[in-house]
Amino acid sequence: MKRILITGGAGFIGSHLCEKLLNEGNEVLCLDNFFTGSKKNIIHLIGNPYFELVRHDVIAPFFAEVDEIYNLACPASPIHYQYNPIKTVKTSVMGAINMLGLAKRVKATVLQASTSEVYGDPKIHPQPESYWGNVNPIGIRSCYDEGKRCAETLFMDYHVQNKVKIKIIRIFNTYGPRMNPNDGRVVSNFIVQALKNEDFTIYGDGAQTRSFQYVDDLLEGMTLMMRSHEDFIGPVNIGNPGEFTIRELADKVIVLTGSSSKIIHLPLPADDPLQRKPDISLARKELNWEPKVALDEGLLKTIEYFRTIVK
Ligand code: NAD
Ligand code: UDP
Repeated sequence: MKRILITGGAGFIGSHLCEKLLNEGNEVLCLDNFFTGSKKNIIHLIGNPYFELVRHDVIAPFFAEVDEIYNLACPASPIHYQYNPIKTVKTSVMGAINMLGLAKRVKATVLQASTSEVYGDPKIHPQPESYWGNVNPIGIRSCYDEGKRCAETLFMDYHVQNKVKIKIIRIFNTYGPRMNPNDGRVVSNFIVQALKNEDFTIYGDGAQTRSFQYVDDLLEGMTLMMRSHEDFIGPVNIGNPGEFTIRELADKVIVLTGSSSKIIHLPLPADDPLQRKPDISLARKELNWEPKVALDEGLLKTIEYFRTIVK
């Protein structure tokens, strides 16, 4: 049994991770400020004697005796991370410093939930970890992209300078049950619009691509990374190489829900990446990991969840 701290544990991914690590027989300490996360996501875990929930903002230091730290605290959808961009940078940068300081003090291994956004609007396709990215440092996505890039820098520097045991994963677009229906991400938007028979909002012409990973595949990759050999620190891409245009995604959701929604086009937000697809050779080699859930299968499970919450 390990004592595991999960920051952002009440969010979409964090709540699934709390559940998985508890089921595997660990003690879980879930820390969250409930900015985008919700007690509803973890309410079924409250009462489990091996689960603790702490309302805390990672911008402030936190101390606890733990063996592992998963650092997930950070709003992940553009509307939420752009709501207070200064706070987003603080969360990524100061949150990383505080969790690295804690890991150093208690000799824990700390894993950073980084992102494919470190590649920005990529000029290399698909994206290997060796690609340095094409990120606008002063645009509307910069608070998130550059905050996450700086967190990676801090992780590497604490590792080199202070011998902190670190792991960095770069997560590509992930979807599944417990996504916040109001957070504006494309999968949740389309499913909610389909279930309400409202117009699908495609930004731009819908030719931009994303690679969508089901949450269970991510959790598998994330926990394998945490348990991997101490010398393998990443960064490593964790994503599904299946690449789809946003238009293709819309068509799939319409078919799978049987919706009568129509498609409308809205302006493409600034700096919206044109294409994105992970090169997962490194994860295959070092973690013996690859995603298993195809898009249609994952969408069906996600639609099933949204049917229970969309009235
Ligand atoms: P989410 O918004 O559902 O979860 C983030 C959680 O962090 C929420 O519970 C939120 O309340 C909490 N939080 C935010 N700021 C905080 C702060 N200052 N102190 C404490 N808690 C704070 O998003 P998610 O999709 O579950 O993402 C989790 C992590 O994975 C994030 O770090 C995100 O950047 C990363 N990630 C997600 C994706 C994706 O597609 N979902 C892709 C790449 C990276
Ligand atoms: N998008 C869209 N309609 C929506 C929400 C998003 O066309 O209602 C587009 C968005 O412009 C982007 C893609 O879908 O090109 C993925 O958006 P999301 O916010 O889910 O993730 P990110 O852009 O951070 O990868």
